[in-house]
Amino acid sequence: MSQSLFSAFHSPAPDPKPPGDRPVKMQVLVTVKAAPNPSETYGETVCVAGVRADMTHPGFVRLYPINFRDLDSDDKFGKYQIITLEATPARQDQRRESWRPVLSSIEPGELLRPWKPRQVWLDDYVETSMCRVNADARERHDAKSLALIRPKEITDLVFEKHPGWTPDEQRKIDKYVAQPELYNPREKTPLQPPRFKGRYRYRCFEATCRGHEQGVLDWEFVMLQRQLAGHSDEHTYAQLRHKFVGMMCAPDRNTAFFVGNQAKRVRVFSVLGVYYPRR
Ligand SMILES: [Zn+2]
Repeated sequence: MSQSLFSAFHSPAPDPKPPGDRPVKMQVLVTVKAAPNPSETYGETVCVAGVRADMTHPGFVRLYPINFRDLDSDDKFGKYQIITLEATPARQDQRRESWRPVLSSIEPGELLRPWKPRQVWLDDYVETSMCRVNADARERHDAKSLALIRPKEITDLVFEKHPGWTPDEQRKIDKYVAQPELYNPREKTPLQPPRFKGRYRYRCFEATCRGHEQGVLDWEFVMLQRQLAGHSDEHTYAQLRHKFVGMMCAPDRNTAFFVGNQAKRVRVFSVLGVYYPRR
């Protein structure tokens, strides 16, 4: 197959959402937990993504919003855990993979580890052309909004200072903190932005690829920064680079990126998580 003909080929479109608003029961292997975003209702919400683990409906799904602060600790789940839940098609989001989870329905199941049992589910999803995923998102209304991309060469991880929340994000935080909590008198801590944003630079396997630069929206990227609070910028960069390049993209790892785009800017894909089984 000629790699340069990527725009002539299209990978199959994700299934359309079913009509109606009836909750659908599904099993999902969670592969992505994105960094939390400010929410006026919950303080923060998280986008979770994964692949359907019910055999009749393969494909990626996005579950939003989920708020981990208010999930009972028994209901909390992690990456590479299979969860069962009910979800309704997210009608305000045109991306076909997007569902709105019924939070009270989430039941955590088996946690897959180490990499071998995860690979059984995920290796078939690996694609080698980010250029094609980008082209589809530009040209097709039914294009995929989530994918697992194997880079040919990761050239850099670059950092910039986080500019702080936007006025709209700050307004949500202020509103959340100001709400009286009658039933649950916990102290409401405002969500802090991470110190740094990171962006991967890489090339995909498309012969004509001119390179991709995508922001890192992985929760782990923010958590590591929280653990390094008080350290110098240089030390923090070094630790982030150590984990997100030195470890996750080591030569003995068959690294791929979970990428996803934005509902309002379908051309903008970010790295939501890193898949790094051993070669
Ligand atoms: Zn490319």
